[in-house]
Amino acid sequence: MIVVMKSDATQEEIDKVISTIRELGYKAHIIEGVLRTVIGAVGDERGKPYHLESLSVLPGVEKVVPILQPYKLASREVKPENTVVKIGNVKIGDNKIIVMAGPCSVESEEQIIETAMAVKQAGAAILRGGAYKPRTSPYTFQGLGEEGLKLLAKARKMTGLPVVTEILDAHDLDIVTEYSDMLQIGARNSQNYALLRYVGRCNKPVLLKRGMSTTISEFLMAAEYILSEGNQNVVLCERGIRTFETATRNTFDLNAIPVLKEKTHLPVIADPSHGTGYWQYVTPMALAAIAAGADGLIIEVHCRPEIAQSDGGQSLKPSKFSLLMEKAKPVARAVGRDI
Ligand code: PEP
Ligand code: MN
Repeated sequence: MIVVMKSDATQEEIDKVISTIRELGYKAHIIEGVLRTVIGAVGDERGKPYHLESLSVLPGVEKVVPILQPYKLASREVKPENTVVKIGNVKIGDNKIIVMAGPCSVESEEQIIETAMAVKQAGAAILRGGAYKPRTSPYTFQGLGEEGLKLLAKARKMTGLPVVTEILDAHDLDIVTEYSDMLQIGARNSQNYALLRYVGRCNKPVLLKRGMSTTISEFLMAAEYILSEGNQNVVLCERGIRTFETATRNTFDLNAIPVLKEKTHLPVIADPSHGTGYWQYVTPMALAAIAAGADGLIIEVHCRPEIAQSDGGQSLKPSKFSLLMEKAKPVARAVGRDI
């Protein structure tokens, strides 16, 4: 249920609604809008004799309405305005399109620092790089682990760019949180509900990637797991889905961008590197994603893709990445955005 407060409701009235929701056995999620406060009352109704409709009699309440979508807190029904997620000084979901860039994997100090400087120079706002890698084969490079996290922190110190990196296992939560500014949940863990709950309990922003065979509704339910634990700082990432097509690694689902933007208030970014799997297609799909309404991009960049430990074939060299950033400017402007 959504409890819509009157625009002149007092803090005392709001607090009373929150405590009543809790007494009835539900979680209260407070959403401060520009004009009024809305409180999402979410929880399992089974076995609870008192229904939330009764909240409509409390002072300061304008109306109590059911949330129709199964993803309650992620839905625009609860929060019509866009959510802006802050990673340090960087804001995702605002007018400015935010670009995250860096290698698929952190491989060495020299590699991550060289790449971090290059992507910063080209205009990236956030550095990406995997320290824990989800690889299809257990015999390939699995990432540098903690050493990789330390190198990312070093690159952040040198460039000032905040860092996003993947968390594969809840056991690593403390260490990944210590060294990074944003936690990435990868496609393979997109429906790992235990992990989603874990990151929902910490206060780091989360970059949630779409699973390669999850529907948009399932993707939003995955975000709901994080939001329902209290972490409101979730950014969604379309990274391509599995289809019958074999000419590309995945099929980048451009449709998903306007659909997600309509259904949720959360920021949506695009990953055309994994979405296509080939460096040649990354720039065209990055431009298409901006035109379709994406709030940002995440792009794999490697100074020597031919010797990359992972995803070299879909990584842009810094010069190509700079070109992408240049080409993105008029497209962003055409859809009323800055970059
Ligand atoms: C990655 O970002 O390198 C990655 C493994 O992405 P995904 O989870 O989308 O495959
Ligand atoms: Mn990768």
